[in-house]
Amino acid sequence: MDTRRKLIILADAAKYDASCASSGTSQRDSSDGQGPGSTEGAGICHSYAPDGRCISLLKVLLTNWCTYDCKYCVNRESSDVERARFTVDEVVNLTLDFYRRNVIEGLFLSSGIVRTPDYTMEQVIEVARRLRELHHFRGYIHLKTIPDASDELVLKAGRYADRLSVNIELPTADSLQALAPEKESAAIKRSMARIKLQFDDHADGAAKRPRSLPAASAKPAASPRFAPAGQSTQMIVGADASDDRTILQTSATLYGAYRLKRVYYSAFSPIPHASSALPPRPAPLMREHRLYQADWLMRFYGFAQDEICTDGGMLSLDVDPKLAWALANPAQFPIDLNRAPRERLLRVPGLGVRSVERLLMARRARSVRRADLDRLRVPVAKVLPFVALPDHLPRDGDAAPLRPPVRRTGEPARAIARERQADLFA
Ligand code: SF4
Repeated sequence: MDTRRKLIILADAAKYDASCASSGTSQRDSSDGQGPGSTEGAGICHSYAPDGRCISLLKVLLTNWCTYDCKYCVNRESSDVERARFTVDEVVNLTLDFYRRNVIEGLFLSSGIVRTPDYTMEQVIEVARRLRELHHFRGYIHLKTIPDASDELVLKAGRYADRLSVNIELPTADSLQALAPEKESAAIKRSMARIKLQFDDHADGAAKRPRSLPAASAKPAASPRFAPAGQSTQMIVGADASDDRTILQTSATLYGAYRLKRVYYSAFSPIPHASSALPPRPAPLMREHRLYQADWLMRFYGFAQDEICTDGGMLSLDVDPKLAWALANPAQFPIDLNRAPRERLLRVPGLGVRSVERLLMARRARSVRRADLDRLRVPVAKVLPFVALPDHLPRDGDAAPLRPPVRRTGEPARAIARERQADLFA
């Protein structure tokens, strides 16, 4: 089989994985002429998630042969898809070739499991090693880690990759057991814990290194790199019956226990010849979007995971989770824009992190009034029902236009979403 055909098969096989984004790593470029690649700018995205979103990396599998039989995966052993396998050199050459032609900005490499987890991991790492050591590739590399691979291999992968990821796959251990019987939730978490330990060790090592010595520059000595863009994971949404509350609980645990940089949510989309254990219809993309918004609230807005799903276990599909929280907690409002601390301002619907910073800056100079909100570029109609200003106090009913529409059952959309989810698993 020629490389072009393999590329068609193995890029298509990788498109279901959304856990890649080249954010957060150290900045490198090729302006010194020592090697190709860059971790910033200049890339053209040629990988697409099944829903059509563009992901700016060459995203391929080393092989779509797999000895596991995860029911939600198009590459599972029992699937009758056409199989292919790249050699290590083929992936190296494709990456360099695409990079030089300005088609990609980096590589996202994953693989089906062949022979053993260690054997597969060695092959994946060898691609990254050759790119870095033989070709001095400076671009972004994201390697998918095989959960049962050895500690040495995880350490080695982190030396070459910007980001490592291990997919948690599903929100609960029971769902994983049902849909991916060869995988073990405990092994996936062990693998995340080992990567976190490496981050801790490298951070400690850097902290202990002397920042200055007599007759030496004050610059800290370079620390050995280990996946500077951190670790991430992907969770499939809507392949099992887990509700949004459970999904967010799992995410909160992963962020807290394993210092994950990102949890990516991937709305389940049916695969060819799917198992009857899976829902026949895709999960709503809006559900995935609401989970990303809720995830953002946990990471940057100080929301605890258990306050986000305000009624029942599902997020509203009609309004964003911060607005839903505000509508469900009228006693928390209005918030005085001139006196409230930053953490309270972050709770106002329509105020993002940047607008809160602008507001804090503005009110140092003088009292902020109604007319200042336009200048501060905040969505006035969304903010005013929840805030107090010297020349504005919200009245009862001001927030009514922001409420989700009442559906045919007389219940808001979150109940419909719950129904929809229940239908899929009835
Ligand atoms: S181990 Fe990975 S590639 Fe293999 S069937 Fe499971 S999800 Fe698919």
